[in-house]
Amino acid sequence: MWGAVVPAAVTRTVADGVELLEVGWPEPVGANAYLLDDGEVTLVDAGLPVGRRPLSAELAAAGYDAGDLDRVLVTHYDLDHVGGLRGLDADVPVHVGAADARLADGTWAPPPAHPKGLFHRLLRRLFPLSGLDLRSVTDGDRVGGFRAVHAPGHNPGHTVFLHEDLGAALLGDLVRERGGRLRPPPWVDSYDTGRLAESVDRVAGESFEHACVGHGRPVSPDGDDHLRRLAAEL
Ligand SMILES: [Zn+2]
Repeated sequence: MWGAVVPAAVTRTVADGVELLEVGWPEPVGANAYLLDDGEVTLVDAGLPVGRRPLSAELAAAGYDAGDLDRVLVTHYDLDHVGGLRGLDADVPVHVGAADARLADGTWAPPPAHPKGLFHRLLRRLFPLSGLDLRSVTDGDRVGGFRAVHAPGHNPGHTVFLHEDLGAALLGDLVRERGGRLRPPPWVDSYDTGRLAESVDRVAGESFEHACVGHGRPVSPDGDDHLRRLAAEL
């Protein structure tokens, strides 16, 4: 009776047009995905390759299917954010920060002496993004209703996507939520913690209500105030 112990798909409405897809399992390894609907439907990140339920089931629980998607945005190339793309039956562009696109396709070789560099050398063999319609984004690019903000440190191409009309900041692993507060990710999980602190400071200068984190619960409202509080500490 395995089916009886698998939790039901859970989605949570963060705000009008902003749904949390709770593929972030098991915690804290798994990462959240989000679905934003401003008339166009955008999936942000995709969780691990195997979760408690397929991403398609989480989409269905939010009232969508893969065929409804207009695009995917990827905050960064880590398995807990791109893993679910493998099973996603959607022929749509996948936008990712330029440096992480180079990380994924092998045109940039990460330092093997850094634990994360080693991880990425393995990841791009096991989980290349080669079959996808990959599009590089750089700082300031507009994709639909989103603006890309290059926020390196955790990964060199880590990108935050801001949706001003929906008041949402898709923060990826710039920060995570613990006990209602925003915290930086563990140092071992980031290439450059100094650059990460600079990125936190920069994104804290933006205005948004909903801090949609990859790990933990979204912090809303006044998400930008929470990020400014962290920026002052770093
Ligand atoms: Zn993550």
